[in-house]
Amino acid sequence: MSERGVFIGKLIIPRDREFYEVRNPADTRQVIAKFPRLRRDDAREAIGKAKEAFSKWSKTLPVERARILYKVADIIESRADELARTLTLEEGKTIPDSMFEVVRTINLLRFYAGLITRGQGKVIPSQDKNTIIMTNREPLGVVSVITPWNFPLSLPAWKIIPAIATGNTVVWKPASITPTIAYELVKAFYDAGLPEGVLNLVTGSASEVGDELVTNKDVDALTFTGSLQTGKEINEKVGKMNRFIRVQLELGGKNATVLSRNGDVNLAVELTVRSAFGLTGQACTATSRFLVPEDMHDEVLSKLVERTKKIVVGNGLKNGVDMGPLASKEQYDKILSYIEIGKSEGAKLVYGGQPIRGSEEFDYGYFVMPTIFDGVTPDMRIAKEEIFGPVLAVMTYRTLDEAIDIVNSTEYGLIAGIVTRDISEAAKFAEGVKVGVVKVNKPTIGLEPWVPYGGVKGSGNDMYKEMGEEAIEFFTRIKAIYVGY
Ligand code: NAD
Repeated sequence: MSERGVFIGKLIIPRDREFYEVRNPADTRQVIAKFPRLRRDDAREAIGKAKEAFSKWSKTLPVERARILYKVADIIESRADELARTLTLEEGKTIPDSMFEVVRTINLLRFYAGLITRGQGKVIPSQDKNTIIMTNREPLGVVSVITPWNFPLSLPAWKIIPAIATGNTVVWKPASITPTIAYELVKAFYDAGLPEGVLNLVTGSASEVGDELVTNKDVDALTFTGSLQTGKEINEKVGKMNRFIRVQLELGGKNATVLSRNGDVNLAVELTVRSAFGLTGQACTATSRFLVPEDMHDEVLSKLVERTKKIVVGNGLKNGVDMGPLASKEQYDKILSYIEIGKSEGAKLVYGGQPIRGSEEFDYGYFVMPTIFDGVTPDMRIAKEEIFGPVLAVMTYRTLDEAIDIVNSTEYGLIAGIVTRDISEAAKFAEGVKVGVVKVNKPTIGLEPWVPYGGVKGSGNDMYKEMGEEAIEFFTRIKAIYVGY
């Protein structure tokens, strides 16, 4: 397996650095690629290259930047099958789920290409005669982008594309286990004619490379997606440095789907199974709590278990597989430990709860069964903490108010869903839940790129939204210009 490069100004293969192996989580005997473990100095150099490139890139015309974005979209489209396969090999999700990321990335590219050519400023009437006042949106400078592994293509894309579209330059640290698809995305930008230094890719540890992206004084803005714990650490670090840079933190979730007494049971079961076990439960938008009216519990639980039994677990490359492996050994150990926690807390394990072993197909991968706990109460750890795997907690409630309280009872506030035929209930739920996104009769997973997205409470620092037109707000600052004539 050949050694792959990084982008520090341009593509380089730093032969004097140690290289680490990236393995397929469905079959860990297979090495996908080798990437360099860069050092702090390398990250510093990449930030320097981004700073150098900023003076020219920030002055390019929006139409010129859009031209490049459209070309990146065309390149990715022409390589869609190959990129989806790479993503599956590296992260483990199924090919349709990987293709969803590829298509979302293409959509993001074309959306922001169109958006920036439309202009972002305003003209405001003045209180004085013969005066024009206008606002302009200007890029910030060097943006650090730090991302997790679970949406290794489309999530970085929804940060990098609006950053670059608005004239910023970027230094990106992907998660250590998914650098190959990151490399492919950056390569597509340079194949489309992006000038050197505008987008830099650095691989390596969180403690060296990640830390440099957070603390370097030449960084003008930081956009991070990852766990609440890391988000808190980063927030504290930036605070201590007493620098007024923009920091966007998008963090974990503990999302609930509520079946109302007026809802379609089969639909609720279908949406919950998709949102809890699709993507192997490794989505920030996954449903990890299913709230069911107390008097409907038995009927719903038996339907839920029956439907879950139909999930086909296996290598994401195979046709017909619904759920791939967990993405890493760390994830595998964590999920199994939460299953033990659930049992020890007194929740009732009604389905799954074990690794899958015993054949060549499963023995070398991080496969676990979709898992359902019943009788979960709001005080249990499995009802409060983000597990980030295919483990669903079934909980009961009596009134809609109580359901809303349970939804709101965790530290997180990302997404909440309700299944109901009653519009007043839907409206009351949407008003009462403290989250960034509400879904009515829809799965909690699945976001559209033209819609603003972001969590509240422990799910994000909630100053700026991602995606949609709103993403432009984070990556630009407003300048007011008064002109007398
Ligand atoms: P993580 O916090 O461990 O790591 C995220 C990224 O930050 C990685 O690239 C990691 O190397 C880097 N990092 C870790 N510590 C750092 C530090 N001290 N300084 C700088 N960089 C550091 O998260 P993860 O395990 O990769 O991802 C899973 C988490 O991401 C889950 O909590 C999930 O909910 C969250 N997530 C949130 C969203 C969202 O939009 N809200 C989307 C996807 C994932």
